Amino acid sequence: MQRVVILGAGFGGLELATTLSETAGDELAVDLIDKSDSFVFGYSKLDVMFGRATPESVRLPYAEIAVPGVRFLQETVTSIDPKARRVTTDAGVHEADVLVVALGADYDFDGTPGLAEAGNEFYSLAGAERLAELLPAFSQGRAVVGVCGAPFKCPPAPSEAALLLHDHLTGRGVRDACEISLVIPFGTPVPPSPDTSAALEAAFAERGIRFVAGRRVASLDAGRSAAVLDDGSELPFDLFLGVPRHRAPDVVLASGMTEEGYVPVSSKTLQTVFPGVYAVGDVATVGVPKAGVFAEGAARVVAASIVANLRGGEQPGDYGGRGSCYVEFGAGRVGRVDIDFLSGPKPTGTFREPSHALADEKHDFGSSRSARWFAR
Ligand SMILES: Cc1cc2nc3c(=O)[nH]c(=O)nc-3n(C[C@H](O)[C@H](O)[C@H](O)COP(=O)(O)OP(=O)(O)OC[C@H]3O[C@@H](n4cnc5c(N)ncnc54)[C@H](O)[C@@H]3O)c2cc1C
Repeated sequence: MQRVVILGAGFGGLELATTLSETAGDELAVDLIDKSDSFVFGYSKLDVMFGRATPESVRLPYAEIAVPGVRFLQETVTSIDPKARRVTTDAGVHEADVLVVALGADYDFDGTPGLAEAGNEFYSLAGAERLAELLPAFSQGRAVVGVCGAPFKCPPAPSEAALLLHDHLTGRGVRDACEISLVIPFGTPVPPSPDTSAALEAAFAERGIRFVAGRRVASLDAGRSAAVLDDGSELPFDLFLGVPRHRAPDVVLASGMTEEGYVPVSSKTLQTVFPGVYAVGDVATVGVPKAGVFAEGAARVVAASIVANLRGGEQPGDYGGRGSCYVEFGAGRVGRVDIDFLSGPKPTGTFREPSHALADEKHDFGSSRSARWFAR
C-alpha cells in the first residue's frame, strides 16, 4: 500500500487527509502528524480575545479525528529530507511514498524589537487568552492594532480586530475615552477587493477608527510606549494589539526546501521541485493569501493528484486560487469576499454586504469543517 505522510494537521492537512480517506481510504495508508493535541480555527482567536468563547471551547481535539484509513500521530517533526521523502520526529522516522508539507506559518515574535516586552499579539491562542484578561481593564487611552510584517495570515483579520475592539469598548461604555488606530502594510484593507476595502474604510470612518495605510510596525519602544513605523513615524499607545511577523517553521527552513522564506510550489499542482513532495497552505508560496480557505482548496487538488497517480488516471484541473473569506464588521454582522487569485490576469474580489445571514453562514462554515474532520 502506498504511504502518504502529511506533516501538519491544520486547515490544509485535515482537509487533505479527509479527502484522501473519502476517495481512496482503502488504497492508501495515510499518516497525519502534528505536534499539537488539537486544532483551532484562526478566527476563534478573535472570539477568545473578546471573551465570546473560552479557549477550551474552541479546541478541537485530534483524538476525535474519525476518518477511516487515517492515522493521527502526535509527534513533533524535527527534520525533513525531501529528496529521500524521509521525516524524523521526536518519536521516530517515517518513510513516505508521497510527502505533503502542511506545517503552516510560525510567528517570529523576536523579529519585532519590543513586541515581547511592550506589546501583545492576538494571532496565537495564548496571545488571545492574554488579551482577554487585559482588555476588561483597558478603559481609557490609545489602542493600536498593528501589523508587524507581510505576508500575514488572513489579511482582513486586523481590520476585524479593530472593529470588534470598537464594539467591545462601546459595550462597556468607555469608547469615548479611547482612541483606536489600525496600521496595515497595504494601501487598502483588502487589496484584491476594492469594494470590501471601501466598506471597511467607511466602517472605520463611521466608528472613528484611525486607519494608517501602507505602513508596518517596525518596533515598539517599551520605555516611551510608542509603536515605531517603518517610515520612522511613531504612534504612542496604552494598549498594543499586534500581528507578529510570520515565517515558515524552523524545521522547514532547515530542510533546504525554502526560497525567500517559504516553500516554492507550482501554483497549478502544488508540487515542489522534489518528486513526490507537495506543499499546501501557509507554508507554501502559491500566489494566494495565507488563509484556511486557500489551504483547503489546495489540499483538494493535491488529494486528486495523489489518487490520479495511484490509479494511473487523469490529473486534476489546475488549482484556481479561489476562496471566500468572511469579514466581521461588528454588531453581529459579517461580510463576505469571494476572491479569485489565479484564474484571470489579476486577482479579483466580489464583496457581499455585511449581514446577520452571512454571520450564520460563517458559523455553518466552521461547523461543517468540524463535522467533516472530527465527526462532530
Ligand atoms: C486571527 C486569525 C483569523 C483568521 N481568520 C480566518 C478566516 O476567517 N478564514 C480563513 O480561511 N483563514 C483564517 N485565518 C488563517 C488560517 O487560520 C490559516 O491560514 C490556516 O490555518 C492555514 O492552514 P495551514 O494548514 O497552512 O496551517 P495551520 O492551520 O497553521 O496548520 C499547521 C499545523 O502544523 C503544525 N506544526 C507546525 N510545526 C510543526 C512541527 N515541527 N511538528 C509537527 N507539527 C507542526 C501546527 O501545530 C499546526 O497544527 C485566520 C488566522 C488568524 C490568526
